[in-house]
Amino acid sequence: MKIDKLVLPHVRTLSAYQAKEIPCRAKLDANESPFGFSIPSDIVRSLPTNRYPDPEGLALKEVIARELKVKPANILLGNGSDEIIYYLITTFGGPVLFPVPTFTMFGIIARALGEERIAVPLDGAFDLDLKKMLPAIRREKPKLIFFSSPNNPTGNCFSVERILKIVESAAGRAIVVVDEAYQPFASEQGFLPLLGDYPHLVILRTLSKIGLAGLRVGFLVAGEEIVREVNKVRLPFNVNAFSQAVALDVLLNRKAIRKNIRVIVTERDRLLGALSKIDGVVPYPSEANFILFRVTDPDKTHRALLEMGVLVRNMKGVVDGCLRVTVGTPGENRMFVAALRKIAGKEGFSGRHGKSRDSLRMTK
Ligand code: PMP
Repeated sequence: MKIDKLVLPHVRTLSAYQAKEIPCRAKLDANESPFGFSIPSDIVRSLPTNRYPDPEGLALKEVIARELKVKPANILLGNGSDEIIYYLITTFGGPVLFPVPTFTMFGIIARALGEERIAVPLDGAFDLDLKKMLPAIRREKPKLIFFSSPNNPTGNCFSVERILKIVESAAGRAIVVVDEAYQPFASEQGFLPLLGDYPHLVILRTLSKIGLAGLRVGFLVAGEEIVREVNKVRLPFNVNAFSQAVALDVLLNRKAIRKNIRVIVTERDRLLGALSKIDGVVPYPSEANFILFRVTDPDKTHRALLEMGVLVRNMKGVVDGCLRVTVGTPGENRMFVAALRKIAGKEGFSGRHGKSRDSLRMTK
């Protein structure tokens, strides 16, 4: 029997998300934090493994709510924010509109759910292009608009005025989701304070970038009505007991989280300075925990870095000509810069490509 004949047509043409384990000494490819947290053994020992977890994750929501100055009823927890993106598209449907290049899961999940995708290119400064976005919103009538700010993979925050123009143009017609996965590293405060003004606004956050990627905990913050609607499609017990308990414990240790963030931000800025001094390397400014940079031969550079033990992300097909490096520990960052300098010396990177961004392509 041909199983694929039974698969829905829009799923048949998908390929599975590839996240291969590649051996390396410095893993700087997935925007994780280089700093983890140790898990207190009494937490693990006291977990009743035969019982389902709290279906709502109320204790964890209360800690998050206190930190963000919202109510627990404004929060919905997910198995990573990826899962929340799934739930949002399941709840509101498409068309789903997003600028590109951006986080590829907006498009991948829309496609998996059979929803139409509308990808609108960013402008030459990687900011939102209102001349393209506003007419696209009027013409295509999306039900959901996603942004990631700071944006992955470009690293910049979008202009607040431009985001607000889009939020206002979508009022009464679409839900606008600002994915703030990288907000802890940004100099701007983000959109949480505006939630009260815009009932169609949703903020996405995650614990993955601040040292807890292994737990898979993300959440949305929105008006209570949105939370109630999205909660209808949430699978029961979507955040496991272990993740709830450990996340709760770590979040109570605010000082350690903040210190790690400060180190990453300092390292990011130092890394940016070092990259900009390497001939033939063009780094883009970043408000996140990673840096996008252009090189003359990205495939060769990616391979050569890996041969020296450093794994970064090749952005081929997303931002052609570029690699993306996650900020690591000071030692990992030194190792990366030394490797790149060596490659630049050997290959003789030239400044030929200048600051051109014209090979920017849309994500699939
Ligand atoms: N949003 C953005 C913009 C991201 O870059 C990522 C992680 N790469 C996520 C969401 C997913 O985060 P999580 O681990 O919470 O699923």
